[in-house]
Amino acid sequence: MRVGIPRALLYYQYYPAWKTFFEELGAEVVVSPPTTQAMLAEGSARVVADTCLPVKVFLGHVLSLVDKCDRIFIPAVRSVEKKVYNCSKFLGLPDMTKAVIPEAPPLLEVDIDVNEGKSRLYQSIYAMGRSINWNPFKVRQAGLAAWQAYLDYRELMSGSKLTPPEALAGMYGTAEKEPEVTRTGPARVKGTVALIGHPYLIYDEYINHRLIRRLEQSGNRIVTPEMVATPELKSAIAEITGGAYWTYEEEVVGAGGHYLQSGADGVIGIMAFGCGPDSLMMDMVRRHSVGLGSTPFMCLTLEEHTAEAGVVTRLEAFTDMIYRRKKKDRAVCV
Ligand code: SF4
Repeated sequence: MRVGIPRALLYYQYYPAWKTFFEELGAEVVVSPPTTQAMLAEGSARVVADTCLPVKVFLGHVLSLVDKCDRIFIPAVRSVEKKVYNCSKFLGLPDMTKAVIPEAPPLLEVDIDVNEGKSRLYQSIYAMGRSINWNPFKVRQAGLAAWQAYLDYRELMSGSKLTPPEALAGMYGTAEKEPEVTRTGPARVKGTVALIGHPYLIYDEYINHRLIRRLEQSGNRIVTPEMVATPELKSAIAEITGGAYWTYEEEVVGAGGHYLQSGADGVIGIMAFGCGPDSLMMDMVRRHSVGLGSTPFMCLTLEEHTAEAGVVTRLEAFTDMIYRRKKKDRAVCV
């Protein structure tokens, strides 16, 4: 059986776990290629205009897999932490996909909701595993191996300060066709810029107009949420909001709070136009940056009509400002 995995939304967080799980069960994993203009246009054509950009991209990836696999894996991730909730788009992703892409092969669905208790969660994963391999011991073994692959992946990123595409390239080589594996960093570092936001915005080079490469080519070192250990992200959230409400708040509020206080000369928040959770979370980070008054913060909102020239202009203006601040600080110290 060939299992298709769209290279979008939660792919950057969980791909090693998913790949391990399906391969342990004897399936072949097929990943959609990096996002293209055609994929975005095809995904957008299936939904109303108000749908957020990452979901349109996701549907484009599903469409690109339609004739390349026997099943497509689309989890409904409701909650991965008790009393912390995910955006409604993730909850309805399998149903939305079936409704707007009726020609898609059957989906492999699983409900991830830790609020329902561990046994319900295990049953849900087990039921999906049994639909691929009847052997219950194999399914259990695949689940354990997937969890270990996830932990190794997180450890690799935070321990070695790697972005998800770099870590994936390190783990699986060029076979995964990661677009950003040749990141070498600038020859002379003029400043350190932290990018905060969801991985499906930060690492999709098509929708963010090659943000990381551009910043590095103009002399910046880039740091991202995955490079910060979980306890530090959680303590930053506790300081800013008192406790997480949204799943993946660590990528926005946690990383924002951390980098505003240490490790960066400037922080850029990346969000999608029309995203409810992010508009709240980014505003909290912005307010926190104003309160601290130490590290500059800029929010960059992406949508399908975002012009490359507009992104470049805003990046240049922001980085020029942080270089000037650095120079001024050095002059005061002297
Ligand atoms: S969190 Fe925002 S960008 Fe992500 S899927 Fe939900 S609405 Fe879209």
